[in-house]
Order: sequence, then structure tokens, then C-alpha cells
Amino acid sequence: MHYLDHAATTPVPRAVADRIYEVLTEQYGNPSSQYPLGFQARRLTEDSRGVIADALGCKADSLYFTSCGTESDNWAIRSALWNGRRTGRHIITTAVEHSAVLEPLRLLEQEGYEVTRLRPDRNGNISAHQVAEALREDTVLVTVMLVNNETGCVFPVAEIARILKERKSSALLHCDAVQGFLKVPCDPSAWGVHLMSLSAHKIGGPKGIGALYVSDTLKNFRPLLPGGGQERGLRSGTEATAQIAGFAKAVELRRDHLDEKLARMADLKAYCRDLLLSIPGMETVGSGTAPHILCMSLPGYPSANIVNELGEQGICISAGSACHRGKPSHVFSAMGLPKKTAAGTFRISFGPETGRGDVEALYEALKSHQSRRFPML
Ligand code: PLP
Repeated sequence: MHYLDHAATTPVPRAVADRIYEVLTEQYGNPSSQYPLGFQARRLTEDSRGVIADALGCKADSLYFTSCGTESDNWAIRSALWNGRRTGRHIITTAVEHSAVLEPLRLLEQEGYEVTRLRPDRNGNISAHQVAEALREDTVLVTVMLVNNETGCVFPVAEIARILKERKSSALLHCDAVQGFLKVPCDPSAWGVHLMSLSAHKIGGPKGIGALYVSDTLKNFRPLLPGGGQERGLRSGTEATAQIAGFAKAVELRRDHLDEKLARMADLKAYCRDLLLSIPGMETVGSGTAPHILCMSLPGYPSANIVNELGEQGICISAGSACHRGKPSHVFSAMGLPKKTAAGTFRISFGPETGRGDVEALYEALKSHQSRRFPML
């Protein structure tokens, strides 16, 4: 198999799976229990929080575990609006956020919030200047992702934070860093970001565990799940200790020689782009600089067919985001791509395990697909 879809999810390394198994079978206590097995579970939860916080350059108690990136995004948005309820009902975001941000915002519009969606340029980029122009007195939330999951474009989150500070805006800044964490520089506390969403399964961790960074400048942050009072009263529900330990182990493994891993991914991305561009008609889509995401199009050849055919040969890539399940991507329409280019767009994404052999298998399969199919007119 040639797995080239690391932006959808990642394989879990053996050491991470072993750690999860160990917690499930041996350290299975409830962190709230008042005996040694419970104390051990509490300790492993807090040690894991420390490991992830260290990777994010923040204090451990700024990090709250959630069930996934989607939950972190929903929590951040809802609670930021509660925070600003006396100031206004205006939200700024981009038209190319993940649906974990766009869908809650769509529902909030039905509740009377006003949402400004910034459009990217033809290359998929958003500028901090666009946020500055859209900012108003009644803006209570700016939510902008760090790395776009389809194009790999990196958005200027640090600069946006600086603009909010300069303008003395009381709006909170949320960043969905699910595709950016441990891929590109990411430092919420130094940048002055108030809220940041993470997810373990994009970096070799298990599915079903995420985290939300909440700046300690935010007082009385509102819980999404009130209940038994876990996560310092902000996110109730018995802690998913095995997933939490797996998340931390994945972070530890990723950080080992991280710069070398990222440089290798970037080299592989360049190699892949050059090789695929030698196929007649092939185009690059957007100017994403994240090292792990490459977006290409073969106009005239619908990507849904490409993805299905390659999948049958054991080559896994995606037609835009895996979350769209075959629907045309909102990202490519927002970028204003011609219909044929948008329909032919597919995403290749790399991990530390990917090699040149995987890329070469993809190239051969794409060449063969093109030679056997008539282009769509
Ligand atoms: N945000 C971005 C940018 C993503 O790419 C994804 C997943 O693809 C999510 C949020 C959702 O994360 P999760 O699958 O952990 O809910």
C-alpha cells in the first residue's frame, strides 16, 4: 500500500499503540478515584498534558483535553461568543476553514450572528490586512486556521494577533491548528492567540482525542460540557486516559528529530510536484508552503474517478478534503478556480513514513489513468 493521505489521518506508530494498550490494560484507573490506581491515572494525564504543552510552548494548565479537533473548534467558538456577548455579534473567519468551523458558524448565523468570510486569493492565501479591514467595534471573534487542510497554505495568524492588539480590539482570536501543529511554527502564547485547537490523529496519535489551548488571560471561560467537573471544571467527562497517553507519546515521537522529518517531507513534496508536473496537463493548485500537503489538478479528469481508481491499486490520496465525501470543495470555489481545474483537484499529503517509492507509484498510476481515459470536455 502507498499511503499518501496523512492530512486525512495518520498511521499510529507501534510505540504509540503499545502505550495505549498499556494504559487500557494496566493503568486503567479513573483519574478521579482516590486510591493508587486512580492517582496513577491522574499522574499520567497530567504528565501527558505537560508533554503536549511543552511542544506548544505553553503552560500545562492552558491545555484542556477534548474528544477531537471538531469539539475544540466548537467549544472555542461558542465560548468566545459568550465571552463577548455584551460587546457584539460580529465574527470574522475565512471562506476556506474546515467544516468544523464553518458549520457551527452557519448555525450561529441562524441565531442572529453576523459572519464575515474572507475570500482567499487565487493561490489560496489570506492576508492579515483583510482581517484588519473587516475588523469592527462589535467584532467578538476572529477565527482563522493555521494551515489549510486542502491547499497547505499557511495563514498569518501571528500577524493577525498583532493587528488585534494594535487596534485594541476586544475580539478573541481562535486558531484551528489541527493541520499546523508540529508541521509549521505554532506558538499561541508568544503570538497572543487566545484559543487554539489541536487533534492527535494528524500527528501519529489515536483518533478521538484533541485539545484546546485557552490563554490564561481569559477569565471565566465557559465550559462546553458541564458535568462532573473534570478538566478543572471546563470539560466534564471521564478523561480518555489511554488516548491522552497515546497523544503525548505521538508528540514525543514526532518531536524527535522533528526538523529533519519536516525537511524530508518538504523535499518529498518538491520531488512529487516536479514528477507529477511532467504529466501533460498537470497543474499545481495554490501556493501552499506547509511541508506535508501538496494540491494538484489534472483538469478534464475528475478527481473522484482518480481517487477511486488509485484506491483500488492501493494508492491512497484524496479528492480535496476527506470530510467532503465527494461534494465539490468550498475551498476551490472560494479560490475562484475554473470548474474543470476544481473538479480535477486532488490532495497528496506526506508523513515521516512516506518515501520516494510511494511518490513514484503515484506518478505511474496517474500516467496510466490519463492514458486510458478520455478527458471530460
Ligand atoms: N480542522 C482541520 C483543519 C482539519 O483538517 C480537521 C480534520 O481533518 C479538523 C479540524 C477536525 O479534526 P478532528 O478529525 O479531530 O475532529
